[in-house]
Amino acid sequence: MRAIVIGSGMAGLTAAAYLARAGYQVTVFEQQDEIGGVTATLRQHGFGWDLGPLLLEGFAPYEPAGRLLAELGLTNQVQMTREDRGVAFPDFALWKPADYAGPQWRRERLQELFPDQREALDHYYRFYDRLMDLMSLARRAENAAGLAALLLKLRLALAFQPIKGMADWNAAQVMDHFFERPELRALYTGILADFVVRPSQYPGLGVPAVNVETAFDKRIPAQVSRAGPRPVYHYILGGCGKLVEAAAGAVRASGGEIFTGATVTRIRTQDGRATGVELDGGRFEPADLVLASGGVRETFFELVGPELLEHSYRDKVEHVPFMESVLMVHVGTDLDPAPYQPAALCYYYNTYDVEGAVQSCQQGNYHEGKDGFLIYVPSRHSPDLAPAGHHAITVYTIAPNQLIHGTWAERREELADKLLAEAERVLPGLRERSAVRVVLTPDDFRQRTRQRHHSFGGAAPVMGREGAPHRTPIGGLWFIGSQSESRGGVAGVMAGARKVVRMIQEEANA
Ligand SMILES: Cc1cc2nc3c(=O)[nH]c(=O)nc-3n(C[C@H](O)[C@H](O)[C@H](O)COP(=O)(O)OP(=O)(O)OC[C@H]3O[C@@H](n4cnc5c(N)ncnc54)[C@H](O)[C@@H]3O)c2cc1C
Repeated sequence: MRAIVIGSGMAGLTAAAYLARAGYQVTVFEQQDEIGGVTATLRQHGFGWDLGPLLLEGFAPYEPAGRLLAELGLTNQVQMTREDRGVAFPDFALWKPADYAGPQWRRERLQELFPDQREALDHYYRFYDRLMDLMSLARRAENAAGLAALLLKLRLALAFQPIKGMADWNAAQVMDHFFERPELRALYTGILADFVVRPSQYPGLGVPAVNVETAFDKRIPAQVSRAGPRPVYHYILGGCGKLVEAAAGAVRASGGEIFTGATVTRIRTQDGRATGVELDGGRFEPADLVLASGGVRETFFELVGPELLEHSYRDKVEHVPFMESVLMVHVGTDLDPAPYQPAALCYYYNTYDVEGAVQSCQQGNYHEGKDGFLIYVPSRHSPDLAPAGHHAITVYTIAPNQLIHGTWAERREELADKLLAEAERVLPGLRERSAVRVVLTPDDFRQRTRQRHHSFGGAAPVMGREGAPHRTPIGGLWFIGSQSESRGGVAGVMAGARKVVRMIQEEANA
């Protein structure tokens, strides 16, 4: 059986590795000259920066991506370090204390800052603990079998009862329920700006999942409850490209092939089944299976053709909710950021109006860094990403695919400079002390991912809407990757790809 995988991001490489191990003759086609999609690490003048993912969820041994690495025998090939990040608002910042102050230090610090919200915070953290326990139980139930799975599901159902009434609430309603202060509402919903999703669009019960306390202090143990361990966060040492290299190695070790500079321009079908792909230049490559990653609309409306899709699937493809893109500036500098930013990563928010700021971005307005940005210093955990005495720094913020005034091509340097000017409020002298600068606009990301609308984290987590289903109406054609997973982070696309290979194997064995 020959399988063709379109795209060498972490979804494509994971699927390819599992299929090759299962005995398929696997070929991966990647349109770029290098593999990895947005998980690649960029290198220039002795500096290295990650193109996309930063602090990764899901890589602990008991979490989905950690399990996949173990299954593929890659655990020892990808060196990781458990880490945390800071968060800053105009009037307060939360940095972990120098001496560990227990798993609840953020709650206590917030109670000092907002004494009128003392009870509200206690109330919120009871809700948080319950949701964290539900997540732990759900993950354990997914990996258990027989009676153990049944008992876990029972515990899950019991733990869910007290909050069942909130199941339809959105994040704005949940925040209004707990807090009177706009500062606290913004603290727990600020990360939604990253997804370009308004709090009123995001499921309320999902708020704790994007505010896991371990993300803000790596000393907090994963296991603080009998329900099971909670998510923890890692950086990949040497950059995310190391993960790509390891996954590509697993594909090749099982006989799979990966071709770069190879754009798939057509998925051919016959009698409702995929028969192979056409490459740029017209060459036809036959296959029994085609797994497509990348843009969902590009895949189904351009490579397949909408006329071949049944109405319900076409409708789903048309309604996949998208995020927007990012403006990203990487610099190589001799400035040491440590005195100004105590961790490798911090999110800086300049507004408490998350709903309004996201809505404005959704309407195509670019805030020029004024609403917020993040600063990431990968060379802090991986000194090999910068020459001695220097640092690799990334500054980025969400940005609409198209500007209302002018184009990204025309305004690239001007807007990069404005973003760095905002970042200089944190890192004084950053521009003057940066000898290397690499700017990536939404145009660059569109080109890199072959998407007409770059959605930087894939399918947006909007209530009542979802990514494109993996199983398509075309026999032998499967869709994987970030536009099939809600909030498709790296671990999510890897787990989705693994699931699809399992579905393919089950179908073959049926
Ligand atoms: C700036 C940024 C920050 C992020 N931060 C995080 C984070 O902190 N944590 C986290 O978990 N996730 C993060 N993500 C999201 C995560 O990185 C992605 O969702 C995930 O890596 C996507 O993997 P993928 O394989 O689906 O897609 P991609 O990595 O986009 O790979 C798809 C590949 O398919 C190729 N392709 C497309 N069409 C064709 C074609 N027709 N022919 C040949 N090749 C084709 C593309 O060139 C591309 O290489 C971030 C993403 C970005 C961009």
